[in-house]
Amino acid sequence: MLSTVLLSPHPDDLALSIGGSMALGLFNNSTALVAFNVSRYSPRQLLPPSEVTAVRRAEDMRYLSRLVRNVIHLNLPDTTCRWSPNLKGGKGSDPVLERGKKEVQDFASKFQLIVAPLALGGHSDHLAVRRAVQSIHSYVVFYEDLPYATSYTYDQIRELAKPAMPFVVDVTKVFEEKIRWLELYSTQFTLQFKRAVMQHAKTVLPGRYGERLWVPPESWDHMSRIARSSASATLSQLE
Ligand SMILES: [Zn+2]
Repeated sequence: MLSTVLLSPHPDDLALSIGGSMALGLFNNSTALVAFNVSRYSPRQLLPPSEVTAVRRAEDMRYLSRLVRNVIHLNLPDTTCRWSPNLKGGKGSDPVLERGKKEVQDFASKFQLIVAPLALGGHSDHLAVRRAVQSIHSYVVFYEDLPYATSYTYDQIRELAKPAMPFVVDVTKVFEEKIRWLELYSTQFTLQFKRAVMQHAKTVLPGRYGERLWVPPESWDHMSRIARSSASATLSQLE
């Protein structure tokens, strides 16, 4: 079995984006790496800023520890805890993003398979994680960042994912569980998030619920093997 690392820019990104694939056992025995988890952001509960990081970390541990073998938090500050010249489209580099990119790169390069965000939505933390895997010679598979993915058309995503090919995972049988477990992120999870996740899953696989991964040509055989060997019902799409 390939050693696998799942990259999450923030604590809830894996749950939102590939929670169904994980529940199906597609990435069993993997390590989750959460990069920018120091935060003041808790839209659904008004927590004192000093408590947010610990509460969000606990939510993340509860969610991930049932699905992966190890969880590593890099403890980098997210954009609510730092000023970033990139946030407003300005010039100049953000030292935290540079550090994040380097730390993710160093960690992820030890694994044979890397599951990374496409960085849909262009959030600077998500982009730093995507860029971190660009020069690593491991197999890479990308996921569509939710809820951001809902504001893109299929063609726009395909363009951003090039030369990767779409690989749809049928998550219908675990979809209810995916939604229920998302509630563990009680500082973050809103009805809006829930609607976005449901709407996207229906769009990806009409009549059922799907999550779409994007697989570069060199990783295709490995991804197909993983799908076949897991007990999941998957549907792959070659264009
Ligand atoms: Zn995020």
